[in-house]
Amino acid sequence: YAPERKAARGWDLTNDLVVQELDLARERFLNHRWQAAPILARDIAPSDTRVGRDITNPGNPQEVVGECFDASVSDCESALASAQDWHNAGAQQRAFALRRAADLFELNAGELMALLAREAGKCAPDAVAELREAVDFLRYYANRGEELSQQPARGIITCISPWNFPLAIFTGQIAAALVAGNAVLAKSAESTPLIAAAAVRLMHAAGVPRDVLQYLPGDGATAGTALTSSPEVAGVCFTGSTATAKSINRTMAAKLSPSAPLIAETGGINAGIVDSTALPEQAIRDALASSFQSAGQRCSALRVLYIQEDVADVLLDMLFGAMDELDLGTPWSLATDIGPVINPQAQASIQAYVDKAKDEGRLLKQLKAPGTGYFVGPAVVEVSGIADIENEIFGPVLHIARFAADDFDKIIDDINNSGYGLTFGLHTRIDERVKEVSSAVHAGNLYVNRNQIGAVVESQPFGGEGLSGTGPKAGGPRYVQRFQQPLGAPDLA
Ligand code: GLU
Repeated sequence: YAPERKAARGWDLTNDLVVQELDLARERFLNHRWQAAPILARDIAPSDTRVGRDITNPGNPQEVVGECFDASVSDCESALASAQDWHNAGAQQRAFALRRAADLFELNAGELMALLAREAGKCAPDAVAELREAVDFLRYYANRGEELSQQPARGIITCISPWNFPLAIFTGQIAAALVAGNAVLAKSAESTPLIAAAAVRLMHAAGVPRDVLQYLPGDGATAGTALTSSPEVAGVCFTGSTATAKSINRTMAAKLSPSAPLIAETGGINAGIVDSTALPEQAIRDALASSFQSAGQRCSALRVLYIQEDVADVLLDMLFGAMDELDLGTPWSLATDIGPVINPQAQASIQAYVDKAKDEGRLLKQLKAPGTGYFVGPAVVEVSGIADIENEIFGPVLHIARFAADDFDKIIDDINNSGYGLTFGLHTRIDERVKEVSSAVHAGNLYVNRNQIGAVVESQPFGGEGLSGTGPKAGGPRYVQRFQQPLGAPDLA
């Protein structure tokens, strides 16, 4: 058996046979209960004093999906003490194991997609895309790893990933650190430890040694701090909020070697512009996907759409009509368009924001949310521009701003002045404008006449500027090098 170099499988949800196959594969896990606990180089004796916490389905909080035993500080210390880098195995052996892991992810698609729906509230198209992205990361970084120079690994890399891509980003960070020969300590997000544990088991089954990849589910205050403040740690890879990235940066600066990198992918207040030459149907379809798909819980999501004033009323009518067609409900159903947000705190704070906009007379529309589950009805809020939005609202809230033709340059300045720079969308049929905006706007990913989410590994490396991240971009050709010691650095291995 030799894993091949191949493209990830896509599940075409417009094909009935594929849908049946997917349904059958997921059905086996409809009532399954999973367990997550630290997976360390050496087995730890189970202790009676450990208490697990229930992980419930955000679409139906009565439903327990599994139980998680979080890592303690002493688990983190034991992981740090037993971590071994993977440098001597050689690039080919590492690539072989990761390609094999990609195959195992595809073979276990039913279980992984069931977990994505039940633990993370992902609708079927999002779950399919996420599994595919995880598989793409494994294969793409395996290929890039084989092309790396012989520079030594950095040592122990801590990977801290978010709940909104609990499989793809979790796997991508680990795969990149592993192909460069590092030891990895992986911490999943508190809300999504079960799918992360499943991914780690598959990577171990594929041949990644247990002392090379250890898993520490837990919270930021305990596991996060322990894994970013030990001088043993040679680098941190983090995706999540800008505020957490800043706090990790401070901890690292105080405790770690100055050469230990923080590779961070953070938030954004992403803008889009629709001018009066744009195709209305396309602009609306793309705005709907960019702002509400995944219930708006993507750092790439469209947060403020500037619409040229002459076409604004028509476009808003179309937007509201299209919103009325959206199906909100259980992510398990293949017919659902919009699932829940991740937890009751997120639900309450997003809804409070929408309620405040309503009190201020700025709420243009909100869909009714289903009664059970952490749902927030997709909402549209009017603003005068990006400067009115103080913080990233990580949910299905789209802001609309109208602009006059003469103000085009000013809005580009306003968007750049937000300090973030992750994704940017432009709908226009003026070629010259595409050129001008591409050079003027400070954003990691610019999308023209299409939606602005769902970057594809290798063809659309993903990452931002300014407050949105440190680079290099994930899924791009320069990412894995960052996990090696830089050229010219002394060999400390
Ligand atoms: N890469 C994802 C996309 O392009 C977003 C990742 C994130 O939300 O962290 O939509």
